[in-house]
Amino acid sequence: MIKQAVIMAGGLGSRFGNRTQAMPKGFIEIDGLAMVERSVQKLIAAGIEEIIIGTGHCSEFYDELAKKYPIIKTVRNDNYENTSSMGTLEVCAPLVKESALLLESDLLYDSIGLFVLQNEERDNVILASGKTNSEDEVYLESDEDGVICNVTKDKASVKNLAGELVGISKVTKSFLNKMVAYYDKTRAENAKIDYETVFCRIAQDKEGGEPIFIRKIEYYAWTEIDDEAMLERAKTLIYPRIKENESLRSVRREVLLNPGPSTTTDSVKYAQVVADICPRELEFGKLMEEVATGLTEVCADPKDYISVMFGCSGTGADEAMVSSCVPPDGKLLVVDNGSYGARLAKIASVYGIDMDVFKSSTYEPIDLEELEKQMQSKKYTTFAIVYHETTTGLLNPLEKICPMAKKYGMTTICDIVSAYGGMPIDLGKLGIDFATSTSNKHIGGMAGVGFVVCKRDELLKQKDWPMRNYYLNLYDQYKYFLETKQTRFTPPVQTFYALRQAIIETKVETVEKRFERFTECWEILVKGLKDIGLKMLVKEEFQSHFITAILIPETPKYNFNELHDYARSFGFTIYPGKLGNIDTFRIANMGDIKPEEMTHFICVLRDYMHSIGVC
Ligand code: PLP
Ligand code: MG
Ligand code: MG
Repeated sequence: MIKQAVIMAGGLGSRFGNRTQAMPKGFIEIDGLAMVERSVQKLIAAGIEEIIIGTGHCSEFYDELAKKYPIIKTVRNDNYENTSSMGTLEVCAPLVKESALLLESDLLYDSIGLFVLQNEERDNVILASGKTNSEDEVYLESDEDGVICNVTKDKASVKNLAGELVGISKVTKSFLNKMVAYYDKTRAENAKIDYETVFCRIAQDKEGGEPIFIRKIEYYAWTEIDDEAMLERAKTLIYPRIKENESLRSVRREVLLNPGPSTTTDSVKYAQVVADICPRELEFGKLMEEVATGLTEVCADPKDYISVMFGCSGTGADEAMVSSCVPPDGKLLVVDNGSYGARLAKIASVYGIDMDVFKSSTYEPIDLEELEKQMQSKKYTTFAIVYHETTTGLLNPLEKICPMAKKYGMTTICDIVSAYGGMPIDLGKLGIDFATSTSNKHIGGMAGVGFVVCKRDELLKQKDWPMRNYYLNLYDQYKYFLETKQTRFTPPVQTFYALRQAIIETKVETVEKRFERFTECWEILVKGLKDIGLKMLVKEEFQSHFITAILIPETPKYNFNELHDYARSFGFTIYPGKLGNIDTFRIANMGDIKPEEMTHFICVLRDYMHSIGVC
């Protein structure tokens, strides 16, 4: 999997005249989005984690873009006026760690090209297309081994045409180093050499060179945009074709308003489609290691914390934590103010763990004085609580509760399943020792990976404890992975690939912005409910913004199944929720939901409520 991309964007774009005098060419918009920004979005969707943009002319535009997309790093080619793409590539090269995709900045292309290169077995590959009739074609010629031997605009000079240069390639670090070394040697004669010409020189260098192959997609939808005529052609001919192709590949959208699994992006869905691999291969071990670190970074400092992953749901992670983290002769205090707190207590009771339960209202805040009294009264080793009670949408104030537990010397174990990734959380600051979550809630992956983010020091204390569990033993899972880069038992392979992509997308959006998006959706929801005349179970100020429990209207005409089916017919899935004798239905803000979709949902809800005489 390639993780870095380089975009060469130093050029003047002089063929555009006025239009690009005070703006780089990549910022020309098509369908309301700058070419280069669309390219960045496609790279992210293709699993790229870092984009290096080599800038020059009007570099400040790219620096601005980097603020919007934290995965972008810009490097300026200060000599852009006297060099060319190779000069820009040279300044980017030191930032490339392994293999990277190389792209020109003035491209409009079907994202499939990126996936083709990501899946190419050969290390160095140039993407080519069939005939484009663009009138600015760069022809590629290959030798009998399929290696590039000529790159030219002069078609007549080409004997063995391999395709037209697209401007997207994949190269190894060593190939790139050779390009830079070649440029360094020859710059005095030709400072303005193009990167594609250097491809050819390295490929044909019999001593010390390295082959680069041509991969042709015959009917590839793409164009570069060098002047007004090409821009017009891009808008009218190429862009519609790309849009059509990409929409044919997109998956029917269902908006899940249930509290997880949540709506996923298409790029997360597609990330699962990978070559079969035995999970005991080192390559997969590295992927899992990378995922574990990524999961930790969402809520803690990887210096102090480590994520231990299992093939299971969120409850599996809860069970691993509860059954592993109470010492053999320890005693647990569990807060139960909803189904998930009750579940933690249930798990402890099944394992025969000595325990007291602190019961509290499911929709009103915990009485902290009472809780502290309980903590003082008995000698507990371990304290368990749920951060966000998904049953009701009540957010427990862990910033107040966890320091209390620490004061009484307890190890703190928290179910943060439905808060993790949706709001900024810092386990270290909160004083949480173990925390659970799952791949399919706010982080936006597929169901199948449950994990416990563990404070390393606390986890190591479990080393000599007798095992109370087997599959779900936290220390054993940790130790085995540390030593082998393998899980003890078969992991959900494809779910890990999707999770890797979900983590990238979380980093790109940032948890802070994700919380803002959910809050925006929640505000639309709350306003809509008020307009319709529906009431919420939990007061607004105590709500998480992630889930809203709505009291059912007082009319015998209301029928959850009818509402569910009606909403589903518009692509929205809602969720029932009965709390004791209080009947509610629930709407979650999780995953890839957009404010405009919540607005649409409100219309659907109003329509149904109107049909039964509520409004
Ligand atoms: N804990 C909380 C707070 C949850 O919201 C959920 C699921 O909604 C779980 C645990 C259990 O997760 P799973 O259904 O994946 O077992
Ligand atoms: Mg051109
Ligand atoms: Mg160009």
